[in-house]
Amino acid sequence: MKTLLRLTALVKPYFWWMALAALIGFATTGSGIGLLMTSGYIIAKAALQPPLGALQLGIAGVRMFGIARGALRYAERLISHNITFKILAKLRLWFYDAIEPLAPARLMHFKSGDLLQRIVDDIQSLENIYTRVLAPPLTALLVGLLMWFLVGVYSLQAALIVLTFHLLAGIGIPLLTMQLSRGVSKGIMQHKTEQQILALDLFQGIGELQLYGKLPAHLTAMRTAESGKLRLERKNAMIDGLHDSLTGLLMNGAVIAVLWALIPCISTGQVNGISLTVITLAVMASFEPFLPLPGTVKHLEADKHAGERLFEILDAKPETSAPASPLAFPREHTIQVERLSFTYPGSRSKALDSISFKVLPGEHIAIVGPSGAGKSTITNLFMRFWNPSEGSISIGGNNISLFDPEELRRNIALVSQRTYLFAETIRENLRLAGPNATDEELKRALTAAGLGHFTSKLDEWTGQHGMKLSGGERQRIAIARVLLQKAPIMILDEATANLDGVTESEVTQTLQAISAGKTLITITHRLKAMEQYNRILVLEKGKIVEQGVHSELMARDGLYRRMWELQHVVEVG
Ligand code: ATP
Repeated sequence: MKTLLRLTALVKPYFWWMALAALIGFATTGSGIGLLMTSGYIIAKAALQPPLGALQLGIAGVRMFGIARGALRYAERLISHNITFKILAKLRLWFYDAIEPLAPARLMHFKSGDLLQRIVDDIQSLENIYTRVLAPPLTALLVGLLMWFLVGVYSLQAALIVLTFHLLAGIGIPLLTMQLSRGVSKGIMQHKTEQQILALDLFQGIGELQLYGKLPAHLTAMRTAESGKLRLERKNAMIDGLHDSLTGLLMNGAVIAVLWALIPCISTGQVNGISLTVITLAVMASFEPFLPLPGTVKHLEADKHAGERLFEILDAKPETSAPASPLAFPREHTIQVERLSFTYPGSRSKALDSISFKVLPGEHIAIVGPSGAGKSTITNLFMRFWNPSEGSISIGGNNISLFDPEELRRNIALVSQRTYLFAETIRENLRLAGPNATDEELKRALTAAGLGHFTSKLDEWTGQHGMKLSGGERQRIAIARVLLQKAPIMILDEATANLDGVTESEVTQTLQAISAGKTLITITHRLKAMEQYNRILVLEKGKIVEQGVHSELMARDGLYRRMWELQHVVEVG
């Protein structure tokens, strides 16, 4: 109920437009009823062979109601679709605004296919909340009131009959539909979500599925989801057929019952033959707005489910937030990390355990350690994807939580192990880092990043996930992005880990060249060209266990030396 109230609040700003649309909707159905009544009047009257002039009023009525019906229907559709698109735009913007600060900490718990389903199908379902859920009962009520009054003028008994049949069509059949279709709409949406998740897994992991022989099982799971959805859709279609025919049955029943009540009134002179025809046709036409009501209850269930899923995202609290009045990013950017600890939600062990270090502007430091030591967690905290559990990171003497996260991220260029390239042109992929960069600047960045031969290919498509480029080329695009970002601080998080030996040393050289004069934090478990760093921090199980320059660390019999020897022996071997 709470979800439905919140969804109704969503359309509140359009209340007057909705009232107008409902009124026009009512007038449209009213014109349909009027058209049938006046047509019935002409036919019944003509049967008595009156002079042609006696039919003039009816003919004018047919013209008027006929034209009004079409024009009003057009106006009603125009307004209701306008409301629908406004709701759609609002929902999508709301969703995007809500989802952005949740990335990546809070979104980790959602599967991509599930999120895709929420933004496409759930919002699509909610956009029709006015046309399918709110408007039909209102129009049916107004038409019902009109008919009860109209028939009541001739016979109270006939009016009660119409009321009974309208209540059966407007409340009885929707309740029956609700009972029969309980869980159907929700089930269909759940199967669709499952299908999206499985389809995305198939596209992205088809290689692994084939490699480990899991493709048949995956396809079976997809088929099961499809047949589950089809089974529910078949049930849905049967329920649709049932309520449509039941409403038709009620309409015909109402016509027969009204005739049964009014025919005796002819002998008393209460009703004449022409009025009988007109009323009977009006009763028939009055069922039109009752037809979509059973569908309304089904949409209500689907919208409630979609609303719950949407509010789950909209209500989620971001892990980090921007301060009310953020500080400007300082020019002097000494980095001070003090007693920094962090534990991932749900994890029992600390990923970082009270680490402290300082990096002066222009200094180059490396953070090394075995896998799982907590190196990338430092990047996550620097980029404010998470907040530290204890301790702080300061830049220029100010805690980074005092800066606007977007400005902080603009000033820290990050090259990670996996560079994401959008299915776009090279130009657009570069402009991510420099939205206002000219083609000349893009070409200069490409050349400096070692992709001089790409300068004539700015309009070339990179393929899905940059599939048309090699691993080294993708990392060089990331380097070009860093150049365009012009940030004073650089973090390289395993930036060359996925590259082959030759490409790795080429990319490393380029990175060294572009980091000159900048503050650099390199995070790596591969100990290569370590002599260049002003300091090396060795991390193990979230703690700094050693620090110093390469020669000092090699002189000790510690973890660093063991790692170095192991890697170099393996390489030599
Ligand atoms: P690698 O060199 O393999 O990338 P790393 O030193 O960068 O390792 P981190 O990624 O920082 O290590 O991980 C530190 C610890 O935190 C690990 O035990 C890891 O399992 C855990 N961890 C990392 N990310 C998450 C997460 N999102 N949720 C829970 N635990 C996590």
